[in-house]
Amino acid sequence: MIASKPNSLASALRAAVQDDPVLVGEQVSPYLTDATEAQALSGTAEAVVLPSSTEAVAAAMTWCYEHGVPIVPRGGGTGYAGGCVPDGGVVLATDRLRAIRSFEPLLWRAELEAGIITRDLQRLARENGLYYPVDPGAAEQSQLGGNIATNAGGPHAFKYGVTGAWVMGLEAVIPPGEPIRVGGPIRKDVAGYDLRSLLVGSEGTLGVITSAHFRLIPAVERRLPVVAFYEELSAGCRAVTAAMASGIVPAAIEYLDAPVLQACGASFPERLPDRTELVVIAEADGSAAEAELGQAQLQEAMAPGALELHVPRSDRETAALWRWREGVGIAVDGLKGGKMSEDIAVPLDRLQEAIEGTVEIGTRHGVEAGSWGHAGDGNLHSTFMFDRCDPDQLGRAHAAAEDLFELATELGGTISGEHGIGVVKAGQLRRQWEQPAIELHRRTRELFDPAGLMNPGKKEP
Ligand SMILES: Cc1cc2nc3c(=O)[nH]c(=O)nc-3n(C[C@H](O)[C@H](O)[C@H](O)COP(=O)(O)OP(=O)(O)OC[C@H]3O[C@@H](n4cnc5c(N)ncnc54)[C@H](O)[C@@H]3O)c2cc1C
Repeated sequence: MIASKPNSLASALRAAVQDDPVLVGEQVSPYLTDATEAQALSGTAEAVVLPSSTEAVAAAMTWCYEHGVPIVPRGGGTGYAGGCVPDGGVVLATDRLRAIRSFEPLLWRAELEAGIITRDLQRLARENGLYYPVDPGAAEQSQLGGNIATNAGGPHAFKYGVTGAWVMGLEAVIPPGEPIRVGGPIRKDVAGYDLRSLLVGSEGTLGVITSAHFRLIPAVERRLPVVAFYEELSAGCRAVTAAMASGIVPAAIEYLDAPVLQACGASFPERLPDRTELVVIAEADGSAAEAELGQAQLQEAMAPGALELHVPRSDRETAALWRWREGVGIAVDGLKGGKMSEDIAVPLDRLQEAIEGTVEIGTRHGVEAGSWGHAGDGNLHSTFMFDRCDPDQLGRAHAAAEDLFELATELGGTISGEHGIGVVKAGQLRRQWEQPAIELHRRTRELFDPAGLMNPGKKEP
């Protein structure tokens, strides 16, 4: 893809970025995969550049653009869509963009660079009496730039929204190497087309996000969940809508089905009732009084049809429950060694069909299947498990995923509620959008990146 030898490319690029690191050879290996590694997805790159400033990002992009070299932006490499997996070219990793440019707790806002780890923003907010509620599952590794580029969600997106809802402004470098700022430390801005929202979720295809202004809110005092176990899937799905009708806005409404419980049930903080087919977790939050009242309302709403309820009363029990929930993906990995974990989202009234459909599709293709996810958002992590040493099983998991995308669109949903399209679902947007909309999408990309060098082959190629 690149005419020059890696070493000469590295020296030219190094000169362009004024001695920020440029890695070649063996050193690029950690930058060739993401969380899809279990699906045997791995890329190649001529070099990895690690700019430490917006100017260096602009210089690297200018150099790549002048030399016709593809650029693959990379954050923490936790994506589930292979979005940062390179197919040649230069990986532009944001690990060194780690500055807190401003933090004004009394104004509930901060400007942070793209390479800051998600957990560090959550911590910064918490230690100052504030709350950054976006909680994607790999928060210890994912970066804010990656969260913005995928518009990441998580359990508490049900009440608080996904990453984009917390981004007031962005700084990005767009082709052929120009820094732009859209929005800023301002809570309202309707002046121009919403370019900020266009960059949110753009998966590295429109530019490199270098920093963002985040909105924060005062910390919630207490969180009190209710965990309900159902023998009937239908009763569990009814409990999801009952939680919504309970009189409060639950902070999160999550679920896990029986095949997933096989993987993670043993580590549940309490004993799991026999015959459980579906677990629903809903949480009340707010001041201590609000959370307690909310928990009682959720308890009453979710009791009908439940085998049992588990009602944590202490912060320690609540923390144990969420720690367990965060470990679900890893526990499912352990079942067969590999998994293809998708992220379809469907209208809430079709949730039961999607949960059942996932298992049926797995059976049809001869792979174990199950799901868990963000029930309140109709967002399923439909998962097909396979032995990662068995290419036949991997092939069957791929075929099952294709059927799953078909199911999602048939149910009026989307092929991606969280992880994005990346390379795993590249070109699949056609399933759910009509041709004029696809064409507008293509032209928008071309407007930002006329030479087609930003993360080629990803999203809607
Ligand atoms: C165990 C586990 C649990 C997860 N749980 C959730 C969850 O609950 N919710 C959820 O939404 N996701 C979840 N994910 C997926 C993943 O964590 C998110 O997609 C996350 O936002 C990716 O961030 P990252 O920094 O790792 O990005 P990467 O994987 O490095 O990149 C993802 C995409 O963003 C682009 N990109 C990265 N940085 C930039 C930048 N600065 N500018 C422009 N483009 C950029 C890349 O090119 C790529 O297309 C989970 C993943 C794992 C492994």
